[in-house]
Amino acid sequence: MVIIMNPEATLENINGVIQAIENAGLEAKIMEGAQQKIVGVIGDKTKMVTVAIDALPGVDHSVSISKSYKLASREFHPQSTVINVAGVKIGGDEPVIMAGPCAVESLEQVLAAAEIVKKGGAQFLRGGAYKPRTSPYSFQGLEVEGLKYLAEAREKTGLKIITEVTTVEGIEPVAEYSDILQIGARNMQNFGLLKEVGKCGKPVMLKRGLAATIDEWLNAAEYIMNEGNPDVILCERGIRTYETYTRNTLDLSAVAAVKHLSHLPIIVDPSHGTGKWRMIKPMAFAAIACGADGLMMEVHPNPAKALSDGSQSLTAENYLELMDGVKKLSKFMREENLNPLTI
Ligand code: PEP
Ligand code: MN
Repeated sequence: MVIIMNPEATLENINGVIQAIENAGLEAKIMEGAQQKIVGVIGDKTKMVTVAIDALPGVDHSVSISKSYKLASREFHPQSTVINVAGVKIGGDEPVIMAGPCAVESLEQVLAAAEIVKKGGAQFLRGGAYKPRTSPYSFQGLEVEGLKYLAEAREKTGLKIITEVTTVEGIEPVAEYSDILQIGARNMQNFGLLKEVGKCGKPVMLKRGLAATIDEWLNAAEYIMNEGNPDVILCERGIRTYETYTRNTLDLSAVAAVKHLSHLPIIVDPSHGTGKWRMIKPMAFAAIACGADGLMMEVHPNPAKALSDGSQSLTAENYLELMDGVKKLSKFMREENLNPLTI
C-alpha cells in the first residue's frame, strides 16, 4: 500500500501517518513524489484494516498495490491447484463435468437424470435439495429427503454428488451426503456460512455472486481457505448487467483473469450464465476453449415439466450432443497442445 499525502501536508501530518503505520506493526518508508510526499507501507497489508488511513490529516488518498487475499492468490502459490474429489481430479488435464437438474424433484426424476448425465460422461451429478428461490412461493427443495435421493443415484451410477448448502445448519447433512458443497451466488458473501464451510472438511465450490467483482470473489474464497480448507473450486455463473436478453451475462473473461490471479480451479456454468438452453452449447465450447477446468450444466429428463429453471435445462438429446462436442474439443486442445493460458 502507498499513501499519497496532500501537497500541503505538514511534517507533523507525515509523522502522524508514520506513527499509525508503526502502531499497526508495519514499516513506513517515505518516498519523494514530484509534488507530494508518498508513504509506502511494508509488511502484511491485512494489519492495516484497523487504520482509517484516508481519514488521517494530510492524507490525499491511499492505493493498494498488493492483494488482500493471499491463500487464494497465485503470487503466494504459483502452482495451479488440482483438487482430488474421491478420485476425480478438478484442475487437471481433462475438463470435469457436473450436470443434472436444477432441483431434486423426486427419486424417479433424479435417477432418470443421473442415467442421462452418466451416459454423456459427466463425473458429477448436480441437483439442489435446498433451493434459494427469488420468490418464497416457488418450490424450495426437498431438503434431507432430496439429499437421500442424490445419495441413491450415486450408489446406482457411481457419479459423485455436488449440491448446494444455504445455511450453517444445512452444512452437516449436506456434507454427509455430498462430495462437494456448493455455495450459491446469493451466498457468496455470506461470511458466516463461508467460515463454517471452511471447517467442514469437504471440497467447496464457490459460485460468483450476482454482482461480485473478481476481487470480491477471490476474497470470499479466502474466507473459506483461511479456516483451513484448501479445496476451493470457483464457478463463473454470470453477473448482472444492463443486458436483459440473457438471464445473466456470462463473464468468460473471468476465467482468464482468475487463472492469472489465482491457482484455484474454475468451472463455468452456462445454464445460469445465460438462462437459455440454446446458449448452453456455444458457451460451453467457449468456456473449454478459454481454459476453464470444467462445466456445470442443468440437464432434466423433461425440461418442460421442471419445477425450476426448465428453460435453461438441456434435454437428454441436447446434452449428449453437447458432450460429444466437448470431448472432441478438449481432446483436440490436449493433442495440439493448445493451452490458452500460456502467454
Ligand atoms: C444452482 O446452481 O442451482 C444455483 C441456484 O445457481 P446460482 O447460485 O449460480 O444462481
Ligand atoms: Mn438452477
